[in-house]
Amino acid sequence: MHPDLPHLRELQELDNRIRELDEEISRLPKYVARIESQLESHKRALQADKDALEENRKSRVKMDAEIVDAQQKAARLRTQMNEARTNEQFRAFQHEIEFFEKDVSKIEDRILDKMVESETYDRNVKIAQTALDEEAIKVASEVETVKARVAEDQREAEAKRTERAEHAARISGAALRIYERVRRTRGGIAVARADMQYCLACNVMLRPQFSQTLRGADELLTCESCGRILYYEPPGAVVAEDPAAMNS
Ligand SMILES: [Zn+2]
Repeated sequence: MHPDLPHLRELQELDNRIRELDEEISRLPKYVARIESQLESHKRALQADKDALEENRKSRVKMDAEIVDAQQKAARLRTQMNEARTNEQFRAFQHEIEFFEKDVSKIEDRILDKMVESETYDRNVKIAQTALDEEAIKVASEVETVKARVAEDQREAEAKRTERAEHAARISGAALRIYERVRRTRGGIAVARADMQYCLACNVMLRPQFSQTLRGADELLTCESCGRILYYEPPGAVVAEDPAAMNS
C-alpha cells in the first residue's frame, strides 16, 4: 500500500465531517431566525386581536354615552310636553320622544351585538395568549439548544481541522495536490473505494489489468473515469465508512 493512502483516507473522513459540521453551523442560525420570526408574527396577530377587543370596548362606551344622551333628550321633551297647549304640539312632542326612544333601542341592539362580538375576541385573545406563552418558552429553549449545538460543532470542527493539518503534513505534495483538485471538482469526494471490478464512487468498471495493479499497488492510483484516488477493498469487506462516497 502506498504510504500516503491511509492519510488520504483519513483526510477524506475528516473533510466529510468538517463539511457536515460547517453545513450545520450555517443551517442552525437560519432555523433559529425562522422560529423567531414565526413567534413575532404570532405576537403581532395577538396584538391585532387585542386591538380589536379594545376598539370594541371603546365603541360600547361611546354607545352607552349616546344612550344617556338620547334618554336625556327624551326626558327634556317629556317635561316640555307638559306645557303643550294644543293637541298638535302634544303630538309633535310625542313624535320626537318616540324618535329618541327608538334610537335608544337601536343603540341597545348594537351594544348587544358588540358584546357578543367581544366575547369571541376575548376568547380568541385568551387562547392565543396561552399558545403564545407556550411558544415563547419553546423558542427560548430551542435557541439555547441551537447555540450550544453550534458552539459544540465549532469546537469539533476546529479539532478536526487541526487533525486534518496533521494528516496533510504527512502526505506528499503531489498526492495532496491530486486530493485537493479532485475534491474541488468531484463534490468533495477525492478518495473512493474500489472492489474487484468497479470504482464505487462513479460505478465505472475498471480495466482488469488496472484492477490487478490496484490490488497489489504500491503506487497511488486514480480512477481512470472520475479521477478519484482509489483504495482496494474486496467485495463483502466492511462497507466504506462514508456512504456519500458510494453515489457521487
Ligand atoms: Zn471513479
